[in-house]
Amino acid sequence: MPRDLTSDPSVTDAKATSDKAGGRVLLVEDEVPIREGLTELFQSQGFAVVALGDGLAALERAAGGGFDLVMLDIMLPGMDGLGVLTHLRSRGDHTPVLLLTAKGAEDDIVKGLEAGADDYVPKPFGIHELLARVKGLLRRAQLREREPKKLITVGEALIDLDQLVVRSPSGEVRLTARECSILEFLAARAHRPVGRDELLVEVWGYRDGSIQTRTVDVHMQQLRAKLKAVPGGAEWIGTVRGRGYRFEGPLSA
Ligand code: CA
Repeated sequence: MPRDLTSDPSVTDAKATSDKAGGRVLLVEDEVPIREGLTELFQSQGFAVVALGDGLAALERAAGGGFDLVMLDIMLPGMDGLGVLTHLRSRGDHTPVLLLTAKGAEDDIVKGLEAGADDYVPKPFGIHELLARVKGLLRRAQLREREPKKLITVGEALIDLDQLVVRSPSGEVRLTARECSILEFLAARAHRPVGRDELLVEVWGYRDGSIQTRTVDVHMQQLRAKLKAVPGGAEWIGTVRGRGYRFEGPLSA
């Protein structure tokens, strides 16, 4: 059973996750027990952790660069997590950001994804789920760095998977790493239905795709909203009733 970090801060037991990941994490969380618990957990997994409890201080610290991941609480003193995220992205910082959201705060989740968060974990969360999300984000970021430049042409638009942007005669639309992964996955299976469960396993890295299908819908809703700014973009992703989604944009070879 995953343990509930927010009610059980004494997290020292991470034996189930023996594969050490490594990397530099900026953790921004003002609740001391959670901050300390997470610091200990991630250090035990081989991460270097910088832990702060204030949004403004975090923004300043992030400017120095060198982080592989930012774990960001939303309710923070100084500047809230959404403000921190917005500032990071507006200065061209694409470090993967995982939001720690309050339970049922759907509004925050949507705003966070819109502001460029790559993923979120609602509190209370289990350590195994959290570690799986973090490792998934890091893995995808590393893959992106290693791969040659990737472009997908759809009608008049160009999806730049490296720069996380869609360019078209109407201008640029910024995407999150997750949104790019979704588009890439769907476009590779154009005109075929792709299930939510398949997306959860292949794009999110979940072991069990039958859980949390709402996650896919939240991301898809946000992605579609962004694509409306691209000519024809509103038609790129169709819904397949009872199944999932299908890429329907005019792909060029
Ligand atoms: Ca907080």
